[in-house]
Amino acid sequence: MTEVSVAKEDVAATGDLVVLKSVNKHFGALHVLQDIDLTIARGEVVVVIGPSGSGKSTLCRAINRLETIEDGSITIDGKPLPHEGKELARLRADVGMVFQSFNLFAHKTVLENVTLGQVKVRKKDKKAAEERARALLDRVGVSAQADKYPAQLSGGQQQRVAIARALAMEPKVMLFDEPTSALDPEMINEVLEVMQQLARDGMTMIVVTHEMGFARSAANRVVFMADGRIVEEATPDQFFSNPRSDRAKDFLSKIL
Ligand code: ADP
Ligand code: MG
Repeated sequence: MTEVSVAKEDVAATGDLVVLKSVNKHFGALHVLQDIDLTIARGEVVVVIGPSGSGKSTLCRAINRLETIEDGSITIDGKPLPHEGKELARLRADVGMVFQSFNLFAHKTVLENVTLGQVKVRKKDKKAAEERARALLDRVGVSAQADKYPAQLSGGQQQRVAIARALAMEPKVMLFDEPTSALDPEMINEVLEVMQQLARDGMTMIVVTHEMGFARSAANRVVFMADGRIVEEATPDQFFSNPRSDRAKDFLSKIL
């Protein structure tokens, strides 16, 4: 696979990249995010786990401003999330997101999927954007599919294209919300391997997943959520061998 730089940050820049302070959100009567405090350092890989309905997706969506919050603050690289317009498009480029459903543009080829945002949001010229797109498709192992449409690809291939598309924008941080949950079992590893490689390359990542093998090998930190709260934060070793809360013990007993 071709070498291509994906992490945009200046090597000299250090410190906290994503900071959530006392974030709260309701859906009607449901208090879906409760006093969330979370700080993610540059280059850190944080795996978020927890039972269904605990607020993991809402948390990811709030960081990308696909959901608004009621109080508290979220900053990316020291800047508060913008509300609208071009600033918001740039935020979504800075915060790459990969969803459970692959969310590719169905009527665009794979190459176009990975090129479009670079031209529209990052204002690259088409040729440079296509070059970067091809290098990234090669990197995630789908360069042979460049001229096909998403529906012609397997789920694992589509998800790798989705990762390449996000990376094409030179994101500061990548959010993954259960990226392998909709995949047939034999395709899970090919996606996890791409994510492992990204982690090794120093990308800052927030990953919601039930893949505990990935959490053990790639995460610097595990964040366990339940009922809209962060119940526990620990290194993967600590968390899996010695979970402190009853909620985490109960959750792990069900999935391991
Ligand atoms: P998780 O990703 O941990 O499964 P979610 O963040 O998707 O949890 O959802 C947390 C809770 O918020 C769930 O009870 C869900 O039904 C509810 N919820 C999520 N999105 C909405 C919405 N747009 N409107 C109302 N309730 C929602
Ligand atoms: Mg979810």
